Amino acid sequence: MSEVYFTNQELKDRIAAVREKMANAALRAGRKPEEVLLCAACKAQSSEIIRQSAAFDIDVFGENRMQEMALHLQENAFLGKPCHFIGRLQTNKVKNVVGQAELIHSVGSGRLLSAISKEAEKQGIIQDVLIQINLVGEESKAGIAPEELDSLMEYACEQKTVRVSGLMAIPPASMGEQETRGYFASLRNLMEQLKSRSYPNCNPDILSMGMSDSYEWAIEEGATIVRVGRVIYGERL
Ligand SMILES: *Cc1c(COP(=O)(O)O)cnc(C)c1O
Repeated sequence: MSEVYFTNQELKDRIAAVREKMANAALRAGRKPEEVLLCAACKAQSSEIIRQSAAFDIDVFGENRMQEMALHLQENAFLGKPCHFIGRLQTNKVKNVVGQAELIHSVGSGRLLSAISKEAEKQGIIQDVLIQINLVGEESKAGIAPEELDSLMEYACEQKTVRVSGLMAIPPASMGEQETRGYFASLRNLMEQLKSRSYPNCNPDILSMGMSDSYEWAIEEGATIVRVGRVIYGERL
């Protein structure tokens, strides 16, 4: 856990600065600022600093680890704001995330989708999820190849207890601006394709992409949720 090292005012200013950059990026792309949600990636932060930040202009919190999410929820760190799961999720851990996270961003396999669906059925709920796309086949990252999307969607549509709400991706950190923008643009195209297929019980309108170093580009390329950590909370210790 990192120390609280920003004052309340500093935290407020940092969040306001991110908001302003987000709004300007949206306007540059001819979009409305309110079309884009700010997801604060709060991994490794204490409940105290998360609660402090929750009083400011953050839409949702993004959690990477199931145990941290459970702790933060128990300690009312989000002040009632929604919590999303954005980290890598193991099939055997879904029962602690389904029903707790409003949206699971990181569904990168049929196996995981199936486990989520079964757990949601057990709980009697419908779980919203995003499909994670691994556009350039990075071994180190979860996600399906774009060519696999149609078959995963067909499978997803048969599961009555999950609803695919869109796509998520994490571009390789080594890419520069042009490549990263290209990556985001490809993802937006894939999203357009997905929308045009009109799958039943699927309402894809969320495109989750962009982090501290890339959220402005992501918004210009069509993101509807950006997940940012360091620009809000500082470098992770
Ligand atoms: C940590 C994390 C982020 C935010 O990264 P920053 O570089 O701190 O903005 C976004 N998405 C995921 C999946 C993460 O794990």
